[in-house]
Amino acid sequence: MTAADDARLILARLGVPDTAFSTGGLPCRSPVDGSAGSPVRVHDRSDVDAALSAAAGAFAAWRRVPAPRRGELVRLLGEELRAAKADLAMLVTLEAGKITSEGLGEVQEMIDICDFATGLSRQLYGLTLPSERPGHHMRETWQPLGPVAVISAFNFPVAVWAWNAALALVCGDPVIWKPSEKTPLTALAVHAVAERALARFGDAPDGLLQLLVGGRDVGEALVADPRVALVSATGSTRMGRAVATTVAGRLGRSLLELGGNNAMIVTPSADMDMAVRAIAFSAVGTCGQRCTTLRRLLVHEDVADALIARLASAYSTLPVGDPRAPGTLVGPLIDEDAVKGFEAALAQAVAEGGTVVVGGTRGEGSYVRPAIVRMPAQSAVVRHETFAPILYVLTWRDFDDAVALQNDVPQGLSSCVFTDSVREAEAFLSAWGSDCGIANVNIGPSGAEIGGAFGGEKETGGGRESGSDAWKAYMRRQTQTVNFSADLPLAQGVTFEV
Ligand code: NAD
Repeated sequence: MTAADDARLILARLGVPDTAFSTGGLPCRSPVDGSAGSPVRVHDRSDVDAALSAAAGAFAAWRRVPAPRRGELVRLLGEELRAAKADLAMLVTLEAGKITSEGLGEVQEMIDICDFATGLSRQLYGLTLPSERPGHHMRETWQPLGPVAVISAFNFPVAVWAWNAALALVCGDPVIWKPSEKTPLTALAVHAVAERALARFGDAPDGLLQLLVGGRDVGEALVADPRVALVSATGSTRMGRAVATTVAGRLGRSLLELGGNNAMIVTPSADMDMAVRAIAFSAVGTCGQRCTTLRRLLVHEDVADALIARLASAYSTLPVGDPRAPGTLVGPLIDEDAVKGFEAALAQAVAEGGTVVVGGTRGEGSYVRPAIVRMPAQSAVVRHETFAPILYVLTWRDFDDAVALQNDVPQGLSSCVFTDSVREAEAFLSAWGSDCGIANVNIGPSGAEIGGAFGGEKETGGGRESGSDAWKAYMRRQTQTVNFSADLPLAQGVTFEV
């Protein structure tokens, strides 16, 4: 059976209706074996308009539902995701090419955020503030915001929706999802699962969770519409720039999760066994297609040769192949364009003085062997995010120079240091250390937990999703003052008698 046949069976089992497919729709080709499935029906601008009208109606009703009751819907969603975990994870593997355990991990991430959001539904805390006026009190509350458009990337085809949707739902907001045009099948499947949660919940308003399949045009229509209270967009920096400009033009609100260019600093005191394992997972996991993938290895010059030799040996035996097969650690790139990007970046790296230490070749279809490239300097290709498994290695002598090198790229998502020195570790985490949204010690840059706020600085977009207080982006802050006295004093002692 081809991967497309497998996907068809799973979609039927999960209850995705035949009406989701139509000739002339979005072509679906599995990166696993290149097999083609039925094209997916695409939506157009009139569908966007209808979805936004429905979302406005849903918002009017959903914001009146008590938050803990909204949390009950998310709890049910978590239950349905648990029941569908194996099927959904396999679909992630078939459509996005993730190895089995990463597919399962992605669905687990959805379940985890549902659990988190269910608890959060009873903790949308505000503040009480002392008023300067007698007989007054002030407080700050968090109110539902309005429809949230979630635009997602291919590489986390389902988790990104869950990070947003679980929080948005408990915060009182309807969600319209525009998944990547490269991964519409997993989105259809998730929506079929969500339909079951909605049916069990019973009285959720129509239009609370909607799915619009399509390409950039559908995304652009959503982004431009003032009825969208929050655009949460995950993808390339190029996309984020376009989205930010349009949303700013209508003075709207956006939450951007864009490209990364993540580094690891390895110092002479580092535990090299741990470093090698962390580098391998972070640099080649998901075939280098994570926003948090390790792309730059910054090694002290005294330990560089030994570390590179160990990595080269580990890379040369990496099991690359069918992501469904037990033992495979590296699946395919998403498509032919991604392979071309991989090859072009390697050619540019060599032109900029780099030496390919290991890997860098292509196999059948969109399978490639992850590459390690020694670079003489942080040149243009190193400063750019190529969404493929290429690890650039640079050396340094002084720790401050290493931190400067780590920060000297346009992106600011994830970063880490491997060291046994508390001074180096704390300096890395200090105000003059890493400038990224995520900074780790003795842990690689990828594989974040949902409990922390996730996101990055600079060209990564500045947004935060998932845990901590990221929920505040999905709500409207309101400062309230109540006068319970019989007088009307003005603030700052202003007098105004009429
Ligand atoms: P992409 O930018 O090509 O597409 C992402 C989504 O944006 C798709 O749904 C696409 O249709 C839509 N889109 C594209 N242009 C648009 C526009 N002008 N207006 C509205 N929507 C538009 O990204 P991709 O190739 O799917 O994903 C890879 C990129 O995503 C990498 O750069 C990666 O680092 C980034 N990413 C970031 C995070 C994060 O949390 N920071 C997470 C995952 C992926």
